[in-house]
Amino acid sequence: MKLNGKVALVTGSSGGIGQGIAIRLAEEGAKVVVNYRSNPQGAEQTLDAIQKIGGDCKMLDGFCDYDRGYAIGADLGMVDDVKKLIAESIEYFGAIDILVNNAGIEKHADFWDVTEQDFDAVMNINFKGVFFATQFFVKHQIEQGKQNGRIINISSVHEDLPFPHFTSYCASKGALKMMMRNLSVELGALGITINNVAPGAIETPINKQLLNNPAQLEPLLKNIPLGRLGQPDDVSAVVAFLASDDARYITGSTVVVDGGLLWNYQEQ
Ligand code: NAD
Repeated sequence: MKLNGKVALVTGSSGGIGQGIAIRLAEEGAKVVVNYRSNPQGAEQTLDAIQKIGGDCKMLDGFCDYDRGYAIGADLGMVDDVKKLIAESIEYFGAIDILVNNAGIEKHADFWDVTEQDFDAVMNINFKGVFFATQFFVKHQIEQGKQNGRIINISSVHEDLPFPHFTSYCASKGALKMMMRNLSVELGALGITINNVAPGAIETPINKQLLNNPAQLEPLLKNIPLGRLGQPDDVSAVVAFLASDDARYITGSTVVVDGGLLWNYQEQ
C-alpha cells in the first residue's frame, strides 16, 4: 500500500477516469474525497467501491463507516465552490496530501461558431477551477508549514496535439501544461511536486458519441499502435505512481498515457 496515511482529493470523481482514480488511490491506502457536480448517485457508487476496499475503516454497530471516503458536491467552474471544496476536505480529514485535478469537459464546434458561454464553461472548469484549487491547496500547505504535497492534473494529449473543432478544449489543456511547468519551479522549494497525466482516447462517457460511431472509431483505433482504447485503470495506475513516494523526484513532467497515439495521429 503506497499511500497509507495519505488524504487525496479527486475532482470530478463521480464517473469516468476520476472514479477510477479515486478507487485506485483508496486501494493504495489513501483516504479519498470524492467530488461531484450533478451526479450524486455516481459519487455514491465511488464511495461504495471505496468502502468495500475496507482497510482501516472503523466498525460501528457491525457496519464499516465511511471514514475512508467522503463526497462533496462542488462546481469546479465556480471559484467559491472550489474554495469550499478544499476547505471542507481539510475539515473532514484534517489534511489534503494529494490533489488530483481531473474534472473536465469538452465542447465541439467550428471555431467561428464557438459561443462565449461554451468558451467560458470549458475554460472555467478545465483551467480556472484547476488554477484556484491548486492555489487554495498550496496556501493551506504553507499555512500548515508542510514541506510536501502532490498535484496531478489530468490534462490530455491535446495539451500538445491539435484537435480541430475543439479549440477551447485544446487551449485549456495547453494552459494546464504551462501552469504545471511554471509551478514545478515555484513550488519546488515547498516540497510540492506537480505533474500532468495526458490521456489519449479513453473509454468514458466523455467519448459517448465517438464510441457509438463506428465510422469515427475504426480509423481512430488504426491510429493507436497498441490497437485499443485506453481504460480508466490505465490512467489511474499512473496517477497512483505519481502520488507515491516512488515518484518523489518527478516534477514538471507530463506522462502520456495513449497507447502510442500521439506519434501516429492523423485527422481523417
Ligand atoms: P467524463 O465526462 O466521464 O468525466 C468528467 C468528470 O468531470 C465527471 O465526473 C463530471 O461530473 C466531472 N465534471 C464535469 N464538470 C464538472 C464541474 N463543473 N464540477 C465538478 N465536476 C465536473 O470524462 P473523463 O473521460 O472521465 O474525463 C476526465 C478528465 O480526463 C477530463 O479532464 C478530460 O478532459 C480528461 N481526458 C479524457 C480523455 C478521454 O478520452 N476520456 C482523454 C484525455 C483527457
